[in-house]
Amino acid sequence: MRPTPGGYNGPGTSDRADGPSSIRLTFLGTGGSFGVPMLGCHCAVCRSSSPYNRRTRTSALLEFDGRSVLIDASPDLRSQALERGVERVDAVLFTHDHADHVGGLDDLRAFNLRQRQALPCYGRPDTLEAIRARFSYIFSSAPALGSRPRLELREVSGPFELWGRMIQPLDVLHGHHLITGYRVGDLAYVTDASGLPEDTYRALEGVRVLALNALRQEPHVLHFGLEQAVETARRIGAERTYLIHMGHELEHESTNAALPPGIELAYDGLSVCV
Ligand SMILES: [Zn+2]
Ligand SMILES: [Zn+2]
Ligand SMILES: [Zn+2]
Repeated sequence: MRPTPGGYNGPGTSDRADGPSSIRLTFLGTGGSFGVPMLGCHCAVCRSSSPYNRRTRTSALLEFDGRSVLIDASPDLRSQALERGVERVDAVLFTHDHADHVGGLDDLRAFNLRQRQALPCYGRPDTLEAIRARFSYIFSSAPALGSRPRLELREVSGPFELWGRMIQPLDVLHGHHLITGYRVGDLAYVTDASGLPEDTYRALEGVRVLALNALRQEPHVLHFGLEQAVETARRIGAERTYLIHMGHELEHESTNAALPPGIELAYDGLSVCV
């Protein structure tokens, strides 16, 4: 196992005061769709020996009231779960159906086996439709010799409750697509945004901890660049904003040093409480 930045001890272990009503957010992966290092690239960041510059594909774990909720199933899900000691997942919230967010779907089998139950998976109707089409073997009624995940797809069309917590879906622009961010209490998670509708800014009022994507220095047609992410973070005004879904263009330490107070790059394994 590679060293973990920040001395993170795994989900469920407290590095600061977790009150009974607190929510813990663990960044399982913070990389763009290629991950960092990018295959075949020899740039300074991809060759860096700093663990902060190694990023698996973006996904996260929310923990509250003894429950674990996964946000997206990255193609690195299995290694992320092993590395962070994730042994239980009670639900999955999908932001959208791009390969870097659903590629680990088959690995959810392990949680079905351990927990002996189907796993509820939430997403907007078009996201679930794409998942159904792309992973048709999972949802086929034909008998299978091997194991396949048992997933219960649940359409999200407005706020819904999970174990007593209100989960608020947020509309997020990802190029021309509308995808989903999520707010739970004072915490919000937005990835793959290239813009936010006004309603979403309103829905984010008063949020204290925000995860927001920044792919590289320059803007991209589907993603915020660093400057747009900082502008957006400032407008939302969370106490702490953590940047995610980063490419190899962003070196951890030097990029962090140039960011305004309250905004910093997340890294794989970082865990925060709100
Ligand atoms: Zn992505
Ligand atoms: Zn590189
Ligand atoms: Zn995407």
